[in-house]
Amino acid sequence: GKPPYEEGNIFARILRGEIPCRKVHEDEHALAFHDIAPQAPVHVLVIPKGPYVSFADFAATAPAEELAGFWRAVGLVARQLGLEDSGYRLLSNMGPDGGQEVGHFHVHLFGGRRLGRMVP
Ligand code: 5GP
Repeated sequence: GKPPYEEGNIFARILRGEIPCRKVHEDEHALAFHDIAPQAPVHVLVIPKGPYVSFADFAATAPAEELAGFWRAVGLVARQLGLEDSGYRLLSNMGPDGGQEVGHFHVHLFGGRRLGRMVP
């Protein structure tokens, strides 16, 4: 089964304003901020505001309005960052084999240079 949502995870603390972040976008359903250890010239994290531990949890349990609002925000952020013409990459690590380190669902948005091919 899925692990329980841990209210003390780092992204929950960022959502509560307990830890600062370099905010890129915020709306009713999503918050976007720069990754603290960027792996590309642009490396932004987009997270839903609800307590979802992973992509699997979000996809299976979030109300349709939250799903739509979140993915709409991901697209808006990429456009707002000026990446639409040059392109970008979205990635979500899920669970142990996916290498997920923070237990609040998040999507990585990478851009700003020609990215290498994805190799598992
Ligand atoms: P994951 O491996 O869970 O997909 O990625 C977690 C990401 O969160 C990593 O890229 C890591 O650099 C980033 N991260 C961890 N702690 C913080 C933090 O306190 N602030 C920000 N902005 N990013 C963080």
